[in-house]
Amino acid sequence: MKKNDIFEIEITGVTDEGDGVGRAENIAVFVPFALQGERVEVLIIKTYKTYAIGKLQRVISPSPDRIKSDCEHFYKCGGCSFQNVNYDTELSFKEKAVTDAVRRIGKCDCEILPILGAKNQSCYRNKAQFPVGTEGIGLYARKSHRIIDMNFCSIQDEKTAIIIKIVRKWMADFGVPAYDELADTGLIRHIYTRVGNNKMLLCIVSRKAEIPHIDELISALLDTGIEFWGIILNVNEKQTNVVLGKKSLVLYGKDYMFGKIGDCEFKVSHLSFWQVNSAQTKVLYDVVKDFASLEGNEVVWDLYCGIGTIGQYMGKNAKKLIGIEIVPEAIDDAKENAKRNGISDFEYYCGTAESLASSIKDRPDLIILDPPRKGCDRELIDTVIKTGVKKIVYVSCKASTLARDLEILEKNGYKATRIQPVDLFPRTNHCEAVAEILRVK
Ligand code: SAH
Repeated sequence: MKKNDIFEIEITGVTDEGDGVGRAENIAVFVPFALQGERVEVLIIKTYKTYAIGKLQRVISPSPDRIKSDCEHFYKCGGCSFQNVNYDTELSFKEKAVTDAVRRIGKCDCEILPILGAKNQSCYRNKAQFPVGTEGIGLYARKSHRIIDMNFCSIQDEKTAIIIKIVRKWMADFGVPAYDELADTGLIRHIYTRVGNNKMLLCIVSRKAEIPHIDELISALLDTGIEFWGIILNVNEKQTNVVLGKKSLVLYGKDYMFGKIGDCEFKVSHLSFWQVNSAQTKVLYDVVKDFASLEGNEVVWDLYCGIGTIGQYMGKNAKKLIGIEIVPEAIDDAKENAKRNGISDFEYYCGTAESLASSIKDRPDLIILDPPRKGCDRELIDTVIKTGVKKIVYVSCKASTLARDLEILEKNGYKATRIQPVDLFPRTNHCEAVAEILRVK
């Protein structure tokens, strides 16, 4: 097989990135946008030893699950994977991806509960990070740093597009330069938005703090009638892929927002983590609460606690809450939030979970783990095992690292009993999963 060959193939599976998979000349061919069950014509664009990448040329027999994408940017943009398939099928792909990872990587036979889907599949995101560059303002193309110019992203809160248009017009009217990534010149790098309780927190990320005509931008933004928690200028002087820099200046309002989950209210500083799908966060946390089934006399360790959300959401049912989180602003928020949410006994520590957990004095009755995509550090898992804690609830945003960590736990006296996949990210290839893990030895 070589580049530019054309094959007619049957799509027999889907990867966890959402690409269709078929075979030609006995090797696997990955075909973005092709759906399971379809017969398609593909152009080979890259070959490797054991697989190849194909470009979808033509769908010969379409899947009954295929739908027309509502988003004009779908086939270029790297944000979504499932705009061209009905939601039930997307959910079944995600459930299968979690199951496959847990079985194959984790070698774990626990029960996988039917995935909990989202009511809204569009406009659900409360956070947007639009890169600004010489190619325009928008989102990155698949696996690339090329910007696809756009105002409207169909999974974003509708206010985002209005903000993008205003910034775009202001940059054009006053000749404010976009950041040039290669030359490391120019100014505006990112438009970063968040929505809490329907009000907007906006961060303009710039290479330098001195920006011409910034007052005109603020008045144009306020003239939209959108309510703002605050407008912040974040300065990122480094030539880096990291979005936010160390220095922030408040241009208007505040540098934090408030958000609600169920009866709990949370302060979220602009540097702190907040789940991007507010409606589904409640569904996710209710699963955690259910798996935790606290009785009121437990010591709960909430590791990777962010602003304290999960622990506090069920914390009134615990005797004591102890959280660890790496972002200092998030720990400040967590302490404030604990008081706000009526938690009487709590401790929050700033640092890495792997370095701090072993020095916590109170023995845990329950450990909550909610790490980023790379999963838990091995040192932390060893600490968790050493505590001999009876129950762990592991909240994961990447099934493969959850599976890896489950295997370690299962070799060390624990058993995953059930896993609940929850879709917080409709149309994208991401999915959350909550695992209940019990000590068996
Ligand atoms: N449980 C929270 C946050 C989950 S996101 C919620 O549901 O809102 C994961 C969090 O882990 C982020 O806040 C991130 O800043 C933090 N984090 C990343 N690496 C960490 C580490 N090594 N130790 C502790 N916290 C870490």
